[in-house]
Amino acid sequence: MAATIIDGKQAASDIRAEVAQEVREMQAEHSVTPGLAVVLVGEDPGSQIYVRNKEKACAEVGIKSFKYELPTDTTQEQLMDLVDELNCREDVHGLLVQMPLPKHLDPTPVLLAIDPNMDVDGFHPVNLGRVVVGNAVLPSCTPAGCIELIKRSGAEMEGANALVVGRSNTVGKPVAMLLLSENCTVTIAHSRTRGLPDICRRADILVAAVGVDRMVKGDWIKEGATVIDVGMNRTGEGLFGDVDFEAARERARAITPVPGGVGPMTVAMLMKNSLTAAKMTLSSN
Ligand code: NDP
Repeated sequence: MAATIIDGKQAASDIRAEVAQEVREMQAEHSVTPGLAVVLVGEDPGSQIYVRNKEKACAEVGIKSFKYELPTDTTQEQLMDLVDELNCREDVHGLLVQMPLPKHLDPTPVLLAIDPNMDVDGFHPVNLGRVVVGNAVLPSCTPAGCIELIKRSGAEMEGANALVVGRSNTVGKPVAMLLLSENCTVTIAHSRTRGLPDICRRADILVAAVGVDRMVKGDWIKEGATVIDVGMNRTGEGLFGDVDFEAARERARAITPVPGGVGPMTVAMLMKNSLTAAKMTLSSN
């Protein structure tokens, strides 16, 4: 039987509605509106689209968004000064600097300068560390979106064999740690892994975060597996994931499509993290 298609657009819309409800409650009970500051340096067209999508989502859920567009020739010091200033603003609870930065800017000190309790992207080492110790208050958005989709698909996570293909700090590693927190038995594969097809065939839950067009073949999928495809590979034929969707759906229990699977979840989880950051400020006051 063909797999259930996990509808990321619907899940993301449900999460935005849940966040909007909580924002209204926060406004009613505490007269506080969560605020998200987004800093964009330069004119990368992809980044401009991402930032616009974030602003749109903020407007939908009732989060106040503050956009800072800096010119390409911004200096490291100017950017660091802005981050310091935003860290201290009372009406800003979440703060992110859109990556990638222009080449002359070093992203590491910028990331480290963001107050970890405002780091709604979840990229600060403190937040990665919190994910590792099982206290994922501000997990990075795409990994958290993967976990939401697995849960909402009804997959049994306790004791399941979960495989993450990819070990980046932004996706693969945090997804693996979040799966571990859900009591999965977790394997992480990467470019030096030997015998990947057979390792895939043992996975009850497979998360592919590789960036190689349709690399995971249909006959690598265990019958009844839950498959989460993070990959976004633009080709001459269109946008494809890391999994050969058409073949994999014949064996999987549930599978995310590309597009319309993990993609829409990232901004929805950013909204959730922005709300969490505002809650953290309230509870520390
Ligand atoms: P990276 O390039 O940072 O990491 C890719 C990982 O895949 C590395 O760990 C690499 O291994 C591993 N890898 C590469 N080739 C192979 C192979 N042949 N076999 C097994 N493992 C391999 O990518 P990201 O983690 O940033 O992103 C992964 C994909 O997810 C991309 O397509 C990206 O566009 C997409 N993405 C989607 C998002 C969304 O939907 N919102 C957000 C973020 C990413 P090694 O470490 O050994 O080099």
